[in-house]
Amino acid sequence: AYVYRRRILFFLKLFLNLPLCTKGDEVRLAEEASRKYGSPTPTIFSKVIDKSIPADIIYEDEKCLAFRDISPQAPVHFLVIPRVPIPRISEARDDDAELLGHLLVVAKNVAKQESLDEGYRVVINDGKHGSQSVYHLHVHVLGGRQMAWPPG
Ligand code: AMP
Repeated sequence: AYVYRRRILFFLKLFLNLPLCTKGDEVRLAEEASRKYGSPTPTIFSKVIDKSIPADIIYEDEKCLAFRDISPQAPVHFLVIPRVPIPRISEARDDDAELLGHLLVVAKNVAKQESLDEGYRVVINDGKHGSQSVYHLHVHVLGGRQMAWPPG
């Protein structure tokens, strides 16, 4: 329903040029996240979510988006991110369990959609030692080649 409402609003804006100034779902989600996590600093992924910068989005629903990594490290490399800006996995709360589970379910469904039938790697980088560079939780899915272990 969320996706359809956004699409209808998008076409209304596009074709009728209506100034629809209702409080957007992104704003509501950001307010909820702010109550829960403090005030996470917006990152480049906030702009992917609100579509103010282009991204190759391959899946979206009311809770998350999957889009191709801008600097792919494998033939297939996409990210799954929640709409709420949880900065990093170590700052997720125990009551985020359902959302975190949903991100993994979407990761495996999109991996199937991408025909990663030989397997793939799922990675979450956290903080400095994890080499996290964007502080909006994201699940990497990499596939289409043989992975090595241990990771660098
Ligand atoms: P991490 O190092 O785990 O924080 O990963 C951040 C990832 O986001 C990197 O793999 C980047 O290539 C990717 N990235 C950064 N900006 C964008 C963007 N605008 N669109 C798609 N991927 C991005």
